[in-house]
Amino acid sequence: MSNSTIAAISTAPATGGVAIIRISGPQSLSVAQKIFAPSGKTQVENFSPNYMYPGHILCDGFKDYGLCVFFKAPRSFTGEDVVELHCHGGIQLSRAVLKAALSNGACMATNGEFTKRAFLNGKLSLASAEGMIDMINASGLAEVRAGAMLYAEKLTNEVKAIQAQLKDILAGIAADIDYPEEDVASTDLPDLDRRLDAIGNAIDGMIKGYGTGKKIKSGVTCALCGAPNAGKSSLLNALLGYDKAIVSPLAGTTRDAVEGSIEIDGIVYNLVDTAGLREQADEIEAIGISIAKKAVQSADIILYVCEGEYTPLDGVAEDDPRLIKIYNKCDISPARMEQFDISVSAKTGENLDKLKSLMASKAVGEGGLSGAYVIEQRHYEALCRASMSLKNAASAIGLFPLDIISLDINDAWSALGEITGETANEEIIANVFAKFCVGK
Ligand code: GDP
Repeated sequence: MSNSTIAAISTAPATGGVAIIRISGPQSLSVAQKIFAPSGKTQVENFSPNYMYPGHILCDGFKDYGLCVFFKAPRSFTGEDVVELHCHGGIQLSRAVLKAALSNGACMATNGEFTKRAFLNGKLSLASAEGMIDMINASGLAEVRAGAMLYAEKLTNEVKAIQAQLKDILAGIAADIDYPEEDVASTDLPDLDRRLDAIGNAIDGMIKGYGTGKKIKSGVTCALCGAPNAGKSSLLNALLGYDKAIVSPLAGTTRDAVEGSIEIDGIVYNLVDTAGLREQADEIEAIGISIAKKAVQSADIILYVCEGEYTPLDGVAEDDPRLIKIYNKCDISPARMEQFDISVSAKTGENLDKLKSLMASKAVGEGGLSGAYVIEQRHYEALCRASMSLKNAASAIGLFPLDIISLDINDAWSALGEITGETANEEIIANVFAKFCVGK
């Protein structure tokens, strides 16, 4: 694959100051030689790596004035020879530059092919590549931060440290099996149990982090519910109005009932108004209520809006950790606070910041965001499989021979390797890069 030289537009397909056309592969420099006429004396083939050279980019029927930079293998993003051409940022213009590269020896890159080559050349782990795409596709700042942690190999390094411990255990077991009579310390079973338990706990901690990670990635669904006229719509507007300037686009959401989203501490909260549904006319009221109930049941946070006396919310337990009991219209009369979690006024905006903090603490929990980098379902699933295999291994201690136990430990090791990419098969790798855009 990497004998070919690929090219693509790496900047977004929009007009702007500058567009970048990236070329990667052994022929990069020779493609550039044909389509770039340097303004200075240095010819393209003599370009020093990592320096910008000005000149003309020769396209079909015109030339653009721009820059060319050469990154020499292996010190490039892909690990191959890479050339970047920086032209003016027009959609047709950048396409014309790409076309010039394609007619002079490069072939069109597929989705994520640059990053895939980087991965295959050992420039980054699979989890790091995923972190990069998380940063690019993020709908909230928390996802950018989590992606940056993944990109910086935080998860990969932790996983590798765990894998090293597992290898160590496996080596001990192998020595025990291979040389039972020799002077090799035989495996201490209680110690093996303790070690597996400690490793399992570390993995379970990461699995737990996915509770927050998932919300960072997919947003937090908040169902607004309550009796008619309690002030649900007003509260919705008040919440949305606050951060209207940074309301995130609802990429990927399929919920028709989502009224809008707000960002709190970098996490996107999708507000679902069940009110309208409850107040439909008779014939469809039953359907409406059932949809509303489903929205409440599947929500991450339930914003139960009341005015006056508190009445329990149908179908939701009083101690449901997702429930926030909100007394609205506190500008008219004060709440009996033993019945409510918070008292607000959608009209005056009183305590709405406190409500947002309450929503954030419900969604994120005590773990906070700083350690939340298990945001990919793929990583979560691999961690779960690793944890399960270690539990199987631990429960087999004393009951089954060591070689059977080592099979489970090895399964855990390979499940973890899927995260870093070391044991990821073609299908896993293809799925990861399918999420990328062309040019990345
Ligand atoms: P919904 O049926 O639950 O969506 O309730 P609405 O948002 O439509 O509000 C019903 C009525 O209560 C409207 O007349 C609002 O102006 C009023 N209202 C809502 N919130 C407040 C509040 O915090 N204070 C006061 N004084 N009136 C409010």
